[in-house]
Amino acid sequence: MFKMIFEDLLNFLFPYQCLRCGKILNKAGYLCDECVDEINFITAPYCHKCGHPLQEENVQDELLCGGCSKKKHSFYRFARSAVVYDNSSKNLILAFKFFDQTENSALLAAMLKIAGKDIFEAGADLLVPVPLHYTRLIKRRYNQSALLVQKLSKMTDIPYDNFSLIRKRRTKPQVEVSGKERATNVKNAFEVKYPQNVKGRRIILVDDIMTTGSTVKESALALKRAGAKSVDILTIARTI
Ligand SMILES: [Zn+2]
Ligand SMILES: [Zn+2]
Repeated sequence: MFKMIFEDLLNFLFPYQCLRCGKILNKAGYLCDECVDEINFITAPYCHKCGHPLQEENVQDELLCGGCSKKKHSFYRFARSAVVYDNSSKNLILAFKFFDQTENSALLAAMLKIAGKDIFEAGADLLVPVPLHYTRLIKRRYNQSALLVQKLSKMTDIPYDNFSLIRKRRTKPQVEVSGKERATNVKNAFEVKYPQNVKGRRIILVDDIMTTGSTVKESALALKRAGAKSVDILTIARTI
């Protein structure tokens, strides 16, 4: 009895709110039904390798998209994202990234856990966030991807490492750079400070948004140079 009253009181003081539109929810959760309907979650069928959504209907387990079936080598093992980066998911992610809405990190980490199912099944040893340059970290006070990694680590029991991979030089934010320049903007921008921590490990590289893929590529290559056994890419959203 007392517990129920206590819970009612807590709900009254801290009502559940939809993190996307602010609507008060009548049950525990993070998003209202309307917002869940509007967000474009990436669901099967998708390419087994790069995670790109596919049109095919009768899909076997390991279907590849046209690009991946031609490519022999790639810098990653699997890439997965939870949602399409578009107007329906933008505010949820940008609020988390820039406006201290860190309470939605639990929701976003849960989305990563679902999106990364194939990766977790294949097996992984370490979660690593795409790092910020330290000057930007001071300005923003937290690295959104490092927060995600901490939460995801608790949910999956896979350890995380927020220190070994570093951004060794300042780069312009990718959103301020045109498509073509994005690759050169981040070229060789990353380095592994403690190679012994990643050597021989199967690593899941975590970031919030993937657009051209240049940032995750440079990060993954740095991990590979340091001896990582494999790198998987896991992001909240990607442009399609
Ligand atoms: Zn909502
Ligand atoms: Zn593919």
